[in-house]
Amino acid sequence: MKTLEDYKKEISKCSKCGLCQSVCPIFKITKNECSVSRGKFVMLHGVVNKELKLSKNINKYLDMCLKCEKCDNFCPAEIKATEILTCAKSEYMNKNLAGKIIFLLQSKLIFSTAIKIGKLFSRIFRKERKSYEKAKNIMYFKGCVNEVFPQTDIYLNKIFKNTPINITEQNFECCGMPFLSEGNIKRFEECAQYNIKKLKCEYDYLVTDCASCQSVLHSYNKFFNAGIDTEKLLNWGDIIADSQIEFHFEKPVTVTFHKPCHLKNDDFFKKIIDNCQNAQYVEMENYDDCCGFAGTFAIKNPKLSKELMKSKGINIAKTNADYVITTCPSCILGLKQALKITKNKKTKVVSLLEFLSKAEIK
Ligand code: SF4
Ligand code: SF4
Repeated sequence: MKTLEDYKKEISKCSKCGLCQSVCPIFKITKNECSVSRGKFVMLHGVVNKELKLSKNINKYLDMCLKCEKCDNFCPAEIKATEILTCAKSEYMNKNLAGKIIFLLQSKLIFSTAIKIGKLFSRIFRKERKSYEKAKNIMYFKGCVNEVFPQTDIYLNKIFKNTPINITEQNFECCGMPFLSEGNIKRFEECAQYNIKKLKCEYDYLVTDCASCQSVLHSYNKFFNAGIDTEKLLNWGDIIADSQIEFHFEKPVTVTFHKPCHLKNDDFFKKIIDNCQNAQYVEMENYDDCCGFAGTFAIKNPKLSKELMKSKGINIAKTNADYVITTCPSCILGLKQALKITKNKKTKVVSLLEFLSKAEIK
């Protein structure tokens, strides 16, 4: 992977037009130039030209980023801001003690062993699935949270009880997102290469219910030329929408949807709700705004995180929904906090799979 020096030309492509300010959720709150791509590039320009040191202060602003990629998608110069900011973060972390300690905690020995132990315990609650002779072969990339907690398997068994699909799994590593966002490129690469090898097999679809895992699997092609067929890389929502399963809710329910920053396509949601009897959808204002959790962002920037959660909570309350649905375990935590901050006792946060498993399946 590239060094900050390799991005020198890319950084100097920034015309300082300031358009990234209009989409950056952090700039909207702070109004601080250093918290948006333009300001960060001014600092990094100084770093690559040896006029500035990659200091603690610059790192503070590197951490003030949700990695929501809104600036990437909006920049007229097509600068890959999040990629460059991750590279700068990596160079900073590799040079200081705190970085070394975090990287040690993220090592295979500690991080992967902890997940493996959780996975072993959760096996008790998972049931063997029936396999069908002729059915879609789905490779399930569970992600760390679903490896440890068995609920999603239970929901899937219920949702697909009348639909023949074969779900296969591999002994995958973490997708690498937590390592990438801390600048632990070496560990990210280790996970990615391992998973890429495991994915060299036959499947009709590669499916996840975590928007972050999905976007990282997508990025394996860009970073490692992994050859993953991205047409086959889907969310469980896409599979459910396609299978035309009907869901019947005993009592009328009102639902709203939070789109995770890393979910590229949410077309499945409305299609699924159309197949839900007794469920009414109310679109939330700014339904694609970040929930404010964003991994370690919430820990490093508690005030900013709270602001984002508060405005998300206000928008949820306006819908008066019984359920706020999403497809990312990390967003679930952010949304729960949003409800707590806004003292919303009516709405419950659920994953799409949990919500659908509450219905009678036809
Ligand atoms: S939108 Fe792109 S070119 Fe314009 S200021 Fe932001 S990073 Fe620079
Ligand atoms: S990734 Fe999101 S939060 Fe970070 S600078 Fe870009 S728009 Fe702002």
